[in-house]
Amino acid sequence: MSPAQPPEIERILFTEGEIAQRIAAVAAEVSERYRGRQLKLIAVLKGSVFFLAALAQRIEVPLKIDFLAISSFASSGKPTGVVRIAKDLDEPIEGEDVLLVEDIVDTGLTARYLLQTLAGRGPNSLAICTLLDRTCRRLVQVPVEFRCFEIPDRFVVGFGLDYRQLYRNLPYIAVMRP
Ligand code: 5GP
Repeated sequence: MSPAQPPEIERILFTEGEIAQRIAAVAAEVSERYRGRQLKLIAVLKGSVFFLAALAQRIEVPLKIDFLAISSFASSGKPTGVVRIAKDLDEPIEGEDVLLVEDIVDTGLTARYLLQTLAGRGPNSLAICTLLDRTCRRLVQVPVEFRCFEIPDRFVVGFGLDYRQLYRNLPYIAVMRP
């Protein structure tokens, strides 16, 4: 049984079925792009884990999984682009085809930092696959090769995304009440 819809939820943006459908389509794009190669999926804890699990099961090329955890620093509530790696990858990525799996690319500051950091470790290729993309709030340009959904300028939770560590387990993606 799915968890009941909490009162803090204003409306559901994408249902469980819609999410599964888009992930299957994006996994097919990824499989096509990396056909004949081996992939390394790197997920950013904790928001990306639900997406990573669903995506990885649908990708048809051989793949390995590794995790990163980061903390972002804000100043007066605004993102600064200053990110610290709180948990690094377990293995090197030199010479590998790396797909960075993100929950959401918003301002793009986190993704830009992660791309720069990972690029410095000599992967064969490096690309971003995100569940959600909010291009209307972008502050820096980052190449997003694969995306499931473009979203409006509202705070969302569910399917891994949290508000104060809650709501990650909602099987849908929803807009919070302001
Ligand atoms: P960026 O550096 O692109 O501005 O932000 C990326 C991070 O901000 C995401 O990984 C996520 O942790 C957080 N974030 C941005 N927008 C939302 C949102 O609507 N909901 C949630 N739960 N987190 C968000």
